[in-house]
Amino acid sequence: MEATANHTQIVTGWAGKDSSGKVAPHVFKRRENGPEDVTIKVQFCGMCHTDLHYLKNDWGITMYPVVPGHEITGIITKVGLNVTNFKVGDRVGVGCIYASCLNCEFCEASEENYCDQVQFTYNGIFWDGSITYGGYSEMLVANNRYVVRIPESLPLDAAAPLLCAGITVYSPMKHHNMFQAGKKLGVVGLGGLGHVAVKFGKAFGLHVTVISTSPNKEKEAKELLNVDGFIVSTDPKQMQASSRSLDYIIDTVSAKHSLGPILELLKVNGKMVLVGAPDKPVDLPSFPLIFGKRTVSGSMTGGIKETQEMLDVCAKHNIKCDIEIVTPDYINDALARLARNDVRYRFVIDIASKSRL
Ligand code: NAP
Ligand code: ZN
Repeated sequence: MEATANHTQIVTGWAGKDSSGKVAPHVFKRRENGPEDVTIKVQFCGMCHTDLHYLKNDWGITMYPVVPGHEITGIITKVGLNVTNFKVGDRVGVGCIYASCLNCEFCEASEENYCDQVQFTYNGIFWDGSITYGGYSEMLVANNRYVVRIPESLPLDAAAPLLCAGITVYSPMKHHNMFQAGKKLGVVGLGGLGHVAVKFGKAFGLHVTVISTSPNKEKEAKELLNVDGFIVSTDPKQMQASSRSLDYIIDTVSAKHSLGPILELLKVNGKMVLVGAPDKPVDLPSFPLIFGKRTVSGSMTGGIKETQEMLDVCAKHNIKCDIEIVTPDYINDALARLARNDVRYRFVIDIASKSRL
């Protein structure tokens, strides 16, 4: 049988067709709702910088046409025969992970993100051999294993970016035991991922310092996000004054940069986690590492169980993303603004706006 023989549902979405970094309306097909699947009417989809990397083919792995979007929230409209954990009308989310092998040690531990056969929600290859298309689209079919529940107290729009930005910072923060009140956290890059890292830090009582290339973000960061410190990374004096002051750093920067000056901000034995994914290698000089016995590690999104846990933590601590809602006809303007670092702090597409009118 051809990979897409049961892909009979026609869906409207928005796709990039070349490396211009733009999308255009796109009609494509999704599979029928299988026994383990749920069908989701997409309400909102966050615009992650990863979407831009894929649209522009920054990493050289884009399969066009690409329908981006992995910060998806919506309402279930159909459930498969074997689905017991969801019902029609449920408020749910889908993040970066769309399929995995289900058998390896990582899948068994719900660390599907580290399965070596993990497939993403877009630009991935599903079990049936079809290419996956993401949430810049009106409807999604997903295996229930990779679907999470959005807590009632979280609005579907401000919760959407938690499905990628939220879990991507929550997972390493938890793994490295960063949720300790009084410890000093540095967040490099105050964008989509960065602003959620700040919110987790503040919710768990950490002293949070933003390290930013944008002096114009300082006032708002202090007044609205309640950050305790703000360092302009392009000012060597400010950087020097904060040398050896931080216990942990999360680096969310989307472009090539040097980790050297940032590592100097860590105390001896301090830990840095890199979650930003620039297309070119970052500079990692050895001296700041060896002189401070510092550690640099990486982390990729989070597993499904942990994503649900993160959402529940957000509900408990009332953590919502700061978003700018846009309609689908504004996606290209929003992408251009995201590329020039002009967003506070996440664009969220109101996918269902047309049908809600
Ligand atoms: P974003 O909203 O664009 O934020 C990135 C921030 O990086 C910007 O707000 C800016 O902060 C800073 N920045 C931008 N250009 C810079 C430069 N040339 N030098 C230094 N700083 C710069 O992006 P995002 O959606 O948070 O994503 C950030 C990165 O994480 C992307 O590369 C994305 O692909 C990656 N990502 C990784 C994972 C994972 O699983 N590891 C998951 C999602 C996303 P300031 O203005 O404060 O300097
Ligand atoms: Zn993302």
